[in-house]
Amino acid sequence: MAQIIDGKIISAQIKEELKQKVAERKRTQGTEICLAVIQVGSDPASTVYVGNKKKACAYIGIASLAYELPEETTQEELLELIHELNDNDKVHGILVQLPLPGQINENAVIRAIDPKKDVDGFHLQSVGALCIGQSGFVSCTPAGIIQLLKRSGIEIAGKECVVVGRSNIVGKPMALLLLRENATVTVAHSKTKDLREVTGRADILVVAVGRPKMITREYVKEGAVVIDVGIHRDENNKLCGDVDYDDVAPICSAITPVPGGVGPMTIAMLMHNCVEAGTVR
Ligand code: NDP
Repeated sequence: MAQIIDGKIISAQIKEELKQKVAERKRTQGTEICLAVIQVGSDPASTVYVGNKKKACAYIGIASLAYELPEETTQEELLELIHELNDNDKVHGILVQLPLPGQINENAVIRAIDPKKDVDGFHLQSVGALCIGQSGFVSCTPAGIIQLLKRSGIEIAGKECVVVGRSNIVGKPMALLLLRENATVTVAHSKTKDLREVTGRADILVVAVGRPKMITREYVKEGAVVIDVGIHRDENNKLCGDVDYDDVAPICSAITPVPGGVGPMTIAMLMHNCVEAGTVR
């Protein structure tokens, strides 16, 4: 039976380590790390995500500043706030909850964040640094997956890794991180011919397609490690991933469940990035 990679336990370990680090910093330096969280509009899912991020900050001992801006906020107004936060030495990290309303260009907003405060790791400079192997913030979900693998004792170097999905926040940074860990990496996407043949080669298969239960055992090599990034509600309103867990788990060596796999790691790594942002300076 497959090893279940438990994101709840691993993310709790990471948060505990960060909590101690933050307490130590407070004791020795007497100052707090501070994350500014900006939400534009009141999309219910975004409100839940922002609430969870604030809770995680409180748990770890990071101060959070919440900016709840109206739906009709203009791009200029948002950029002005970001410039103020960039200049504020007491603010170490800036997070703009996506998606933004249509009148605001997300790329322009991400570009405006000082890369030293880019705790989401979405800035061009952060992505470029990852690409050429320099230090910088890394997108939280793929960074969390590397932690899941390492902390579960799964060797990455030399392994055949296939990432299904090439989004800027999951697939592409995931591929770069696996490459940095010395895996041999293939990225598959909607135009890939014979996906099953490609995924069937993977020792480690990371799935971020955004399609409920798409990956069945026909796509998976026996004994592979399967990481499921997807989050959906199935026909019975139960949470499920991009992988058909019940079908795939019996044939793989390790697998992440949904919920309780990759999901909890994203916030843990955001907290990790905030602590880094507060430590660098
Ligand atoms: P996107 O929709 O941005 O990207 C999906 C990718 O999958 C695209 O690259 C697309 O290819 C590819 N794809 C779609 N259909 C197929 C197919 N039939 N065969 C092969 N490839 C396909 O999604 P995200 O990367 O943002 O997210 C993926 C999933 O992960 C979603 O379910 C999302 O909810 C979840 N998620 C979970 C997070 C967490 O914290 N657990 C965080 C972020 C996302 P193409 O580029 O050719 O269109």
